[in-house]
Amino acid sequence: MDRETMNPTDIRIPLELLPGDGRFGSGPSKVRPEAVSALVERAQDYLGTSHRQTAVRDVVAQLRAGLRELFVLPAGHEVVLGNGGSTTFWDAAVFGLIENKSQHLVFGEFSSKFAEAAAAAPHLAAPEIIDSPFGTHPLPHASEDVDLYAFTQNETSTGVAMPVDRLASDAFTVVDATSSAGGMFFDPQKADVYYFAPQKNFASDGGLWIALMSPAGLDRVSKLKATGRHIPASLDLELAVENSRKEQTYNTPALATIFLMSLQVEWFLGNGGLDWAVRRCEESASILYGWADRSSYAHPFVADPEDRSPVVGTIDLDETVDAPMVSKVLRANGILDTEPYRKLGRNQLRIAMYAAIEPSDVAALTGCVDHVVGALRGES
Ligand SMILES: *Cc1c(COP(=O)(O)O)cnc(C)c1O
Repeated sequence: MDRETMNPTDIRIPLELLPGDGRFGSGPSKVRPEAVSALVERAQDYLGTSHRQTAVRDVVAQLRAGLRELFVLPAGHEVVLGNGGSTTFWDAAVFGLIENKSQHLVFGEFSSKFAEAAAAAPHLAAPEIIDSPFGTHPLPHASEDVDLYAFTQNETSTGVAMPVDRLASDAFTVVDATSSAGGMFFDPQKADVYYFAPQKNFASDGGLWIALMSPAGLDRVSKLKATGRHIPASLDLELAVENSRKEQTYNTPALATIFLMSLQVEWFLGNGGLDWAVRRCEESASILYGWADRSSYAHPFVADPEDRSPVVGTIDLDETVDAPMVSKVLRANGILDTEPYRKLGRNQLRIAMYAAIEPSDVAALTGCVDHVVGALRGES
């Protein structure tokens, strides 16, 4: 096919190759149709009703209790939530979690943003930043004057994952788990704050942040509030903790987001909990990386297999293949959001393998990519 005149809609992928669901975006990501139908059923007595009344507070309570069960939270740990997503949580952390100086592992777009928020805060010392080339992750080191160690369990922009662990038993550890929570293992003893958002493994919509806080995490929040430092009310974690205990948020949340997320948590619990969800993502990942390893034109971007994310796969294509065109053809055939993180600037496909995504659909996707590349090369 002539590249110059080629139109993405010219290549039709045979129906029998297509996945059952074409959503492979890394966030927002696939929302299960069953959850959407359940939301429609509750349209009359839930949507459009007061978040201060029991109909909504019961769903918040179910979500918080469900997360407690999913992550097997020990006594004294709490599920805290508020509006604004993980990005807003970085700003809340700048006021309510960092005492004076934080350390950040920076290895992609998201990890760099929290570091930038801390660096811009006039009331804090300049953060310590440890970075590494994209496609790898750095390791933390103990620093005398650091009071908060921050890292990202899954760097969604590069497809690099790292285990959650403490540097030392008393190292105050804050983990961005936005795209890993519900898809990767987590031991609540290993972090003081483990925060995430609903639009990734929790198969809901964006706009909310959720933080699992240890007793030391909750203490830090009260301690910094008590210093009298200025904290904007919408970023005040103490207010968020108080409201969460009443199964509410400080200001009005998106009710549909809470409902869909709660349903996803129930779906996990009904199928075997976090272990089940993690295994599902790992199954998808072994399909995707296995295909890329065998492929003549595709290979995993992340060189070290240990660092390859089980929830967001980044696959580089040879320069003989036009990756943006592959994504365009996939899109024209109903397979959505396989484009890489734009600022990474690579000839790449990025494929979400969140828990809601069927491993068989990931397998089908690899077949579709092979078909499209063959067609672009004029083989079919
Ligand atoms: C998506 C993502 C964010 C941003 O989440 P928002 O809810 O859009 O603010 C932050 N960190 C990571 C690792 C992410 O994947």
